[in-house]
Amino acid sequence: MGKIIEAIDLTTHFYTYEGVVKALDKVCISVDHGTTFGLVGESGCGKSVTVRSMMRIIQEPGRIEGGKVLFFPTEGANEKAVDLLSKSEAWMQTLRGDRISMIFQEPNAALNPIMRVGDQVAESFIFHRKRSMSKKILEDLGHPETRVFPGTRRLQKALYAIASQTPNALSLRISRKIPLLRRWEKRIKREAFRRATEIIGHLGIAHPEEVARSYPHNLSGGMKQRIVIAIALACKPDLLIADEATSNLDVTVQAQILDLLKELKKTEISSILMITHDLGVVAETCDRVGVMYAGTLCEEADVKELFTDPKHPYTVALLASVPRFHQEGELKTIEGVVPNLVHPPSGCRFHPRCAHVMKRCKVEVPELINVGEKHKVACHLYDSKGESDA
Ligand code: SF4
Ligand code: MG
Repeated sequence: MGKIIEAIDLTTHFYTYEGVVKALDKVCISVDHGTTFGLVGESGCGKSVTVRSMMRIIQEPGRIEGGKVLFFPTEGANEKAVDLLSKSEAWMQTLRGDRISMIFQEPNAALNPIMRVGDQVAESFIFHRKRSMSKKILEDLGHPETRVFPGTRRLQKALYAIASQTPNALSLRISRKIPLLRRWEKRIKREAFRRATEIIGHLGIAHPEEVARSYPHNLSGGMKQRIVIAIALACKPDLLIADEATSNLDVTVQAQILDLLKELKKTEISSILMITHDLGVVAETCDRVGVMYAGTLCEEADVKELFTDPKHPYTVALLASVPRFHQEGELKTIEGVVPNLVHPPSGCRFHPRCAHVMKRCKVEVPELINVGEKHKVACHLYDSKGESDA
């Protein structure tokens, strides 16, 4: 199974008045085709910043300072990988919503309150259809280098410009295409609304036509979250990124949405990158897990292995803090607080809270090393010097 996306040494900083927040420090994660990868950790450990950096939607005062984000558009063809950090914003717009989509945490913020939800689901479909239509027309006319931001009027303008500089026969072909553009546009819009209603129906919502014509305030929290998922699915993406997609929902709706995501992975999408602080969600839905702490990745393993044989002291503490059914006595907590990332701890960022801290943990940054087949950990307890406190 090949990779679909891989972040290598991803580093992101935020330049605030208080100082430089080192939000991500050389984070490496990779998601395979056909799998669900869970990214877990406490609030503020950099999960959302990681995926936002991968999608290049970090806003000011944030800046991606280094690393690579490789996207593998064709399964098994590693040589065709593209580094998303080296691409233009216009190129990224062709990728977002089409090949990679994102479900955001807060449906009320993600939905436009004055637009019918069906139109919101149809929007990205229309954008990407118009883009591919413009591309095809311009290629047919021998002008593949002309870039047009999706829009019939913009395309019309570009075609007039080409016609004015070209010989008669080509000008004639172009002038015949122009009246067709409006008709194509209407057809795309009709098709998009049909697709939107179909997806809304697939997501287990009764009366999808009626719901597609509703506004967000007409819907319950669970329904709104389903609409946000429908928006992300509109173009059948290869990779779906779900950022705490179920955190604000009550447990029954949460269970329904998780079942839905599992179902969709079989039918509509290839891979899922799921961000959550809920280890129960991870156990239920993921194949592999990455554990983050204070802007670094500290452990990565298959889900069963991580739950049965966690290596990193932070993962061990995190798992011990989950309430169990037959638990007796007090629930364990992790001593201390998440550090301020303007001045992150030296060496291992977990050292002020670690029960196994050694002298070198305070000065040497642990590297992510293999401790088993497909099990990686960044901790000095497992590197070549082991527990020697040199
Ligand atoms: Fe603890 Fe040291 Fe391992 Fe960090 S590197 S988790 S401080 S033992
Ligand atoms: Mg977050």
